[in-house]
Amino acid sequence: MNNTVIVTGGAGFIGSAVIRHLLDQFDTNVVNLDKLTYAGNEATIAGFAGNSRYSFEKCDICDRSAVARIFQHYQPQAVMHLAAESHVDRSIDGPWEFVNTNIIGTYNLLEITREYLDKLPAGQDREKFRFHHISTDEVFGTLGEQGLFTEDSPYQPNSPYSASKASSDHLVRAWNETFGLPVVLSNCSNNYGPYQYPEKLLPVIIFKATSQQAIPVYGTGSNIRDWLYVDDHAAALVRIMLHGKIGRSYNVGGNEERTNLDVVNTVCKILDRLQPAADGKPYVSLVEYVTDRPGHDFRYAIDASRIKQELNWEPAETFESGMQKTVQWYLDNQAWVDAVQASNDLRGHRLGSVKRAGER
Ligand code: NAD
Repeated sequence: MNNTVIVTGGAGFIGSAVIRHLLDQFDTNVVNLDKLTYAGNEATIAGFAGNSRYSFEKCDICDRSAVARIFQHYQPQAVMHLAAESHVDRSIDGPWEFVNTNIIGTYNLLEITREYLDKLPAGQDREKFRFHHISTDEVFGTLGEQGLFTEDSPYQPNSPYSASKASSDHLVRAWNETFGLPVVLSNCSNNYGPYQYPEKLLPVIIFKATSQQAIPVYGTGSNIRDWLYVDDHAAALVRIMLHGKIGRSYNVGGNEERTNLDVVNTVCKILDRLQPAADGKPYVSLVEYVTDRPGHDFRYAIDASRIKQELNWEPAETFESGMQKTVQWYLDNQAWVDAVQASNDLRGHRLGSVKRAGER
């Protein structure tokens, strides 16, 4: 095995932050294995191209022989598996891609890893390898006003997205129990930060506000998420990959619970300060309440004690400092936004608003 980490989904939001962290803070080689779906973008990874420790492989994780060739070629010491279809609204409109990439794709990677480890030359310790599956707190379903998700919370996914991630979590666990694959897992809360695809909540608020369009808020805006700055997640993931106990899962969260309306208000206030609207009105006046997402989970909140106590991880950013950095980044990087929008079908129409059977 070489000092090489394969990062799947490295052209996406969190995967690219992980690659940046690995290249900046460690001497490891990094292979970015990404299909470049609508969510993965060349503009996001352009900055890595000059680094001699970085390689890019355009590849679908569902293409088993191609992924196996990449493993044989690079002889990695770890896989950090982030490639996924990740947008809940899209999973409501079209679940198949979520089943295919998130479940079948993960199954492929597990099998390829198993074959790869079985063929390791004598003397190489398979326990030194890590398969790190990166997952979401949405697998636990929804919380009421009280309580936190721990690593022992029951799985109760409510959307096609979270069901597909729950399914891949279970496969990864089973490949450890049954085949002895050296895996670690992590389930994280909502991320925000630079390079997030412009259909997710944070960039949507910024783009709608700065272009003087209505800022859509689902339902009453009272749904609660636990927000974490993406670089804090990236640092947590690398720590789990390096020091996490085999077979164990780690919850990652910022202990920063906010309603969606709080998030909108915070971003609008930062924008009011950094780039006031031409008409002098506060951006929050653009808020428009729209029909809620079907099956919209009310509250997610993470108990991150395990990763804090066992792996000594703490987030560096607070909600306020991270939001400030994020809004500033989007204002400073309009070229990235333009590049992503130009190369993709940002459908413009509302996603994920299908009605349940029997609903009118
Ligand atoms: P993203 O949608 O921004 O990026 C996903 C990346 O995966 C893209 O680069 C895309 O091209 C690639 N990809 C998709 N299908 C692929 C395939 N079949 N083969 C190879 N590459 C493929 O997603 P993200 O927000 O960066 O999330 C990354 C991971 O973290 C996901 O597994 C997600 O479930 C998990 N996660 C996300 C959050 C969050 O708040 N965004 C929170 C917790 C966990």
